[in-house]
Amino acid sequence: MSRAKLERLGLKLPLFITSTVGSFPKPDYLLEARAKFARKEITQKDLEALERRATEFWIQQQEEIGLDVLVDGEQYRGDMVAYFAEILPGFDRGGLVRSYGNRYYFKPIIVGEVKWSRPITVNWWKFAQTLTSKPVKGMLTGPYTIMDWSFNDYYPDRKAACFALAMVIRKEVEALVEAGAKIIQIDEPALSVRPEELGFAREAMHMITDNIPAYFVTHICYGAFEFIYPQMLDLPVDNFDLEMSNSGLDLIGLFEKDPFTKDLSFGVLDVHSHAVEAPGVVKDRIEKALQVLRPETLWVDPDCGLKTRTVEEAQGKLRAMMEAVREVRQSVGG
Ligand SMILES: [Zn+2]
Repeated sequence: MSRAKLERLGLKLPLFITSTVGSFPKPDYLLEARAKFARKEITQKDLEALERRATEFWIQQQEEIGLDVLVDGEQYRGDMVAYFAEILPGFDRGGLVRSYGNRYYFKPIIVGEVKWSRPITVNWWKFAQTLTSKPVKGMLTGPYTIMDWSFNDYYPDRKAACFALAMVIRKEVEALVEAGAKIIQIDEPALSVRPEELGFAREAMHMITDNIPAYFVTHICYGAFEFIYPQMLDLPVDNFDLEMSNSGLDLIGLFEKDPFTKDLSFGVLDVHSHAVEAPGVVKDRIEKALQVLRPETLWVDPDCGLKTRTVEEAQGKLRAMMEAVREVRQSVGG
């Protein structure tokens, strides 16, 4: 059982483990600095100093709010796929395309063999972990999503591109574990886009997680889960981190039919809404989750990354979440 695995890894965590999906909003000074950097008005070093300052801010915020498993907040990233593509050999930057919603990004192009030449996220993970005694999650974008959100001009098909990327992400996982990471999240928001590809997406996840001594989470959102559930439970991870609240908790119906067999990070905050949830609303969502999940298997977090909210909205939402969790812990524990 996954709870036992966490303990084997030396992690003592309370019931209803609280965490976040990964990204936090960038403070104004960092947004300004990124614009200046793009215009070549400041150096990479100047920008990195502010990225570190913003990372420190978010670690301190997460501690103050009382979360159990922290993230580095991704203050150094633009887009979750482009960030990896910019560092990995084998990619070129493509043209600007529109992705989900109103987000534009430079869609990377695979033009050669993708390779892992140096750690991508490890230094940021290490930096964040030195700032806190709480566990910090390693955060990686998964091979299926990097493949799906890139053009492929090199590999014979999507599966081959996905497998090549899986070998790269495996190396980054090994580097994170070597640095001391015990919980690693592999973001696969695109996973439910083509249900017929779930089989090779699962094989790719095996290439990443097999025989690695870490607790693995995968985050999936924008989901048409009815097409990949319950088959997706075969993915070799310990925990699925799912967007639940934006869709009105309709996944609970699926779990009533086919029980959820792994740990679940249950999204209790709608990241698309500016409104800060009342703690009572969050508590209600947790209680609905408990109708289909055992308390030991339930983690509580937002639906998705909070980077599209303001700093104040993100803080407010997380405070409401913690207040609700404290109440539920009391009523279940007592
Ligand atoms: Zn998401």
